[in-house]
Amino acid sequence: MIMNGHPEARARRDYILEQKRGFGRRVIGVFPAYYPRELLLSMNILPVEIWDPPLESSHANAHLQSYICSVVKQGLELILQGKCRDLDAFLFPHTCDSIQNLASIVNDYLGIEKPCYFFYHPKAPYKESSRWYYIKQLEDLALRLEKQFGPLNHHEFKKKVEQGEDLRRTIGELYRRRAEGTLGLSNVEFYRILRQVEYLHPDDFLPVLTAILKRPPDRKSKGLAVIVSGILPNPPEVLEHLDRLGINVADDDFLSCSRRLLARPAISTVPFEAMADSYFGMQPCCTKGSAIEDRLKSILDKAKSSSAKGVIFQMVKFCEPELFDVPILVEGLKAEGLATLVIDTELNQGMSGQLVTRLEAFAEMIG
Ligand code: SF4
Repeated sequence: MIMNGHPEARARRDYILEQKRGFGRRVIGVFPAYYPRELLLSMNILPVEIWDPPLESSHANAHLQSYICSVVKQGLELILQGKCRDLDAFLFPHTCDSIQNLASIVNDYLGIEKPCYFFYHPKAPYKESSRWYYIKQLEDLALRLEKQFGPLNHHEFKKKVEQGEDLRRTIGELYRRRAEGTLGLSNVEFYRILRQVEYLHPDDFLPVLTAILKRPPDRKSKGLAVIVSGILPNPPEVLEHLDRLGINVADDDFLSCSRRLLARPAISTVPFEAMADSYFGMQPCCTKGSAIEDRLKSILDKAKSSSAKGVIFQMVKFCEPELFDVPILVEGLKAEGLATLVIDTELNQGMSGQLVTRLEAFAEMIG
């Protein structure tokens, strides 16, 4: 993929090409959010996630309604601008109606001649059959992938599932140190590093994280702490501005970050079962139909353990699953004495003067 000469996009493309040439890996473009990463990796497929490519939107609008979120808009734009040439296929998890519609546009109408895979993970409330259903979906996906990418090596699958556990543990430790205020990374640095999970192979990503954790703990940060929630940390200027105001994001409830990167440790060591353990051990999420009370409790727990004074909801405009939850979450958080701020942004659009003023007023309120 080549994206506008943007430095991070260039780094991604160089990395993808290196992975293809150096390791014979095939590459799948994966749309948000929950998908069985370890299964793909065990078939020597590198998943490269498509959340917010930095592109001028010129072609996608003709295919979409005006009230669509920019995750879908930017993802479609990437395809329409012919910047997915290096990919071998696409994977669409069943995240929300908007991703479903995108899957249908790409698979049924664009004629792009790349295989499209779909992954229908179960939604809450979970029943006894949900676990069986999830494992069945994994097995079906594996069978479909095998036709294009060759047979699943079960020994390799087990190794990748163990590595996935290792990665979750390491990211968990990174989050723990940040909540404690001793990680020594700014808000911008933290998410710049963490978001490399979206395209780096874990063989390359894990050493980056362990090197950070090996550094001696920083002196406990004295800044004000907040939790940030939403889909993903974009526009990054919000984080930059929080850094400037001396506000530390002590934890998050981002769909692209903690909601899917952290999970209770798996109990089983059998790969498909272990993957089910992780899936059902993740944090509550509106795109999985979790009860709002569970998500509220999860955010309150994060606020308590990091002594956060408030919660910022960084909403992607027109994100329906979030729009259902946020007003009720705001009420629940206020009732517990936490300050809240809801901001509505388009991806990659920078910050308006009005947004700067609102963040500053919020900082004064919690200060
Ligand atoms: S979860 Fe929200 S932001 Fe993400 S694709 Fe769906 S509607 Fe868009």
